Amino acid sequence: MRKRFTLEEYKEGVLAGDRTKLSQAITLAESALESDLALASDLVQELLPYTGKSIRIGITGVPGVGKSTFIEAFGKLLLEQGKSVAVLAVDPSSKKSKGSILGDKTRMENLASDNRAFIRPSPTGTTLGGVSSKTREAMLLCEAAGFDVILIETVGVGQSETTVKGMVDFFLLLMLSGAGDELQGIKKGIMEMADGLVIHKADGDNLANAKKAKSTYSNALHLFPLAENNWSPPVLIASSLTKEGLIEIWEMVQQYTDQMQSSGFWESNRAEQRLNWLDENLQFLLGKFFLEHEQVQEMLCQNRNRVENGELSPLSLARDLITTFFNSTKN
Ligand code: GDP
Repeated sequence: MRKRFTLEEYKEGVLAGDRTKLSQAITLAESALESDLALASDLVQELLPYTGKSIRIGITGVPGVGKSTFIEAFGKLLLEQGKSVAVLAVDPSSKKSKGSILGDKTRMENLASDNRAFIRPSPTGTTLGGVSSKTREAMLLCEAAGFDVILIETVGVGQSETTVKGMVDFFLLLMLSGAGDELQGIKKGIMEMADGLVIHKADGDNLANAKKAKSTYSNALHLFPLAENNWSPPVLIASSLTKEGLIEIWEMVQQYTDQMQSSGFWESNRAEQRLNWLDENLQFLLGKFFLEHEQVQEMLCQNRNRVENGELSPLSLARDLITTFFNSTKN
């Protein structure tokens, strides 16, 4: 059985940078137990004044683009630059059998072995809403523990990019140079979200193609309207094997940080993200309490097939369920 500490013990442990307490605090935030969640929520509130000093970087790209390898190499470079690094993941689809994102910690064992790095696999078995909220909490806990840079990895599919974009300061898209159709397979929406693009695996025989891809993507990005922060996303090339180009990526992030902090965008973006987080939590918690409600579950179970066969209108059942839920909370 996992030992439970008091709120004060967790707080002191996290603030002292105690890895075990930090891990356990994140586990608490990921728990399905209401008592754990209540304690985690109090802990995050207590630690809030100690958060916000890290640079939060989201990293995305299709499976196989080299995200894990990149994070390990980039993380090591940050350590060499005197920064401490925490790595988190958002992977809504993660199931053990699929070899989930960061699921296999040995993929980053070089980075993990350094005591200035902390690597946390994606929470499993929840919906994206749940995962996203838990990842934010994990991020704040890592910040309170004093990490300078937080790297948040996500797979380049579906909704998860939007989720990660909504919790980071800088969003990095890793891409591969292909023969020819450079822009195929990458959703325009994801490119528009990126604050920087990296043509990855720019080494050996790939190098020439990577350089070509760089100019193709640069040209394509110029056609996008400039974002409200007036930042035009650079396209860089890099290799996590040769380590070429990695320092330029860190320089780009630093330049972005300087520019956005002095323009005020940094803080206004974070303020907006906090409000979005509130909305997400409200939706998530409402859904959770509602769907876990016994009478609601019973009624839903009894009437689902009536909706399925067209006998009962979905709206009518939904409204009846809501009425049942609220009436029961009045007693
Ligand atoms: P992920 O699925 O995006 O996390 O990708 P991985 O980090 O697991 O990498 C997928 C494959 O690409 C592995 O076989 C890596 O060795 C290889 N790889 C990763 N980075 C590079 C790189 O910079 N250059 C080359 N040539 N191969 C790389």
